[in-house]
Amino acid sequence: MHTLQLNADYTPIKVLPWERAIELVLSGKVVTVAAYPSRFVRSASLALPWPAVVTLRRYARARGRVGYSSRGVFARDGYTCAYCGLQPRGGRRPDREQLTLDHVVPRAHAKDGAVYLPWSRKWVRVSCWENAVTACRACNMRKADRTPSQAGMPLRTVPRVPTPSDVLRITLGRLTVPAEWTPWLPEKWQVTRAEATGVARGAG
Ligand SMILES: [Zn+2]
Repeated sequence: MHTLQLNADYTPIKVLPWERAIELVLSGKVVTVAAYPSRFVRSASLALPWPAVVTLRRYARARGRVGYSSRGVFARDGYTCAYCGLQPRGGRRPDREQLTLDHVVPRAHAKDGAVYLPWSRKWVRVSCWENAVTACRACNMRKADRTPSQAGMPLRTVPRVPTPSDVLRITLGRLTVPAEWTPWLPEKWQVTRAEATGVARGAG
């Protein structure tokens, strides 16, 4: 069971374990703006609403880091092919089956496990945020073991290490998002949403 934390301006910034959210509520750093229905956190002396969404009283600069993963690359790229812009859809959701991970400078060009990125003028590991993009199957096949310039397939955006906002989107991509959170999340994030309230019934 998790809690969504908003900044003082109500922009979402991170996901917390609910225990941490309770600590922040008790210390007065955050205020609960949405609670899981009919659920309370009880102790000997109090019963608090179970916080689904909390907001900081004071504005904080967003920070965050996330480990490299292919799912993270898809989420960072908005489930969109970095070459042709295709967004495969399965119903209303992104169809992840139709997406592949593409190493922008392919492994075949690596020297000692590193590749050179001309646009950022540095050597990086083959598998890293800056050398990985989302590609549809057709583009990945067409590009094969070539760089974008060799293939004549320019990137629509330069891949980068995720921003704090990307980190949150990636975190949300790993969860089933409770319905209580959805009013606070941008529609374009395409997170997988719960159909009804009270999703994570396991906790408590
Ligand atoms: Zn494509």
